[in-house]
Amino acid sequence: MKTTRRRVLQSGALLPAGAAAAKKAPAISAITPSPLYAKLGIKPVINGVGVVTVLGGSIMPPEVVQAMEEASRYFIPLPELQKKVGARIAELLKAPAAMVTCGAASAISVGTSACLSQGDPAKLRRLPHRDGIRYEVIQQKTHRSGYEHQMESCGAKIVTVETRRELESAINERTGMLFFLNKADPNGQIKMEEFIKIGKERGIPTMNDAASDATPAANLWKYTEMGFDLVIFSGGKALRGPQASGLLLGRKDLIEAALPAMSPYGGIGRGMKVGKEEMCGLLAAVERYVKVDHEAEWRDVESRVASIRKALDGVSGLQTDRHIPVIANEVPHVTVEWDESKRGLTAQQVHEKLQAGDPPIHVQRPGTGKLLISVWMMRGEEAKIVGKRLREIFGA
Ligand SMILES: *Cc1c(COP(=O)(O)O)cnc(C)c1O
Repeated sequence: MKTTRRRVLQSGALLPAGAAAAKKAPAISAITPSPLYAKLGIKPVINGVGVVTVLGGSIMPPEVVQAMEEASRYFIPLPELQKKVGARIAELLKAPAAMVTCGAASAISVGTSACLSQGDPAKLRRLPHRDGIRYEVIQQKTHRSGYEHQMESCGAKIVTVETRRELESAINERTGMLFFLNKADPNGQIKMEEFIKIGKERGIPTMNDAASDATPAANLWKYTEMGFDLVIFSGGKALRGPQASGLLLGRKDLIEAALPAMSPYGGIGRGMKVGKEEMCGLLAAVERYVKVDHEAEWRDVESRVASIRKALDGVSGLQTDRHIPVIANEVPHVTVEWDESKRGLTAQQVHEKLQAGDPPIHVQRPGTGKLLISVWMMRGEEAKIVGKRLREIFGA
């Protein structure tokens, strides 16, 4: 067949690579066949839970995949790459310094190791042993995150306090770090500014775990600018970087102390490896995130919320609402509520029916007669499918 100019244009051969890919790329969703997962006997699901590790985090945009692919083709001095990528991310996120970790949980570990060893290589080598180490980490009772093991496995002993007075008297010569769980700020007696101030006055570094809190995007620099010495974000959540990546941002001396606390260096963090692909992928994700049109993305999320609510409109005994969580995962969700005894249908049963369908649908079940649906990670027709299936389950 003769190749005409028109055919070449249609095939996208004359378009820049990105434009051609955007034109041709099908809207991938849970209903797009995946030979890879089919071969493994894994059924892709509609993610109505949000950015969670157990469902695969988030979906990387093409520019992130492309960066990982290019990174994968070369050998490079890895510690040098980590420093260059860190410097670039720090610049983009207005932080004094930054490094890529293999997740937010790993950032908690290497950040804690840096605070406990205070930049002393001999102390770092001794972790998790406590001799000569400032091993106590103070945390408010309401700020328990479930990630305490990440500090304890580095040798930390968690000291729990509730009031400002308790915090001030708990600080002593063994205190190495003050831990703050960003999303717990409304629940704690000691608020963010006060917590930072106490850390500064007493010369103890403060760490803020904001893993799920990169919405709005300005949060990525807000907490370092407020004065937290270390701030943590997941790479595979809102940022849509590689699932196995995370960010540790903060004070230059602490990031320098944290680098040797992780692979490729031996010791406490050797098991936390970050590959060249994750480093370059996360950098590409940060570059995208700081310039992407968040308002357009927000409008897409709103339209998916509206689509599910509309599908359930008029189903008797069912109330739907639009819900935006405070701080973590701060994007519109859908709540569905009903009286279980009146409908003869429990949230557990609805949940099971959703998961048993094709494609399976995963949502949150926060209580009796209640579903919480995150539409954030839904693509293509997925929100429509969810609305239709719920309507069927509720017998409408
Ligand atoms: C998700 C999360 C983590 C863990 O993040 P990973 O990137 O999966 O390691 C830690 N802390 C909080 C508050 C989180 O929400």
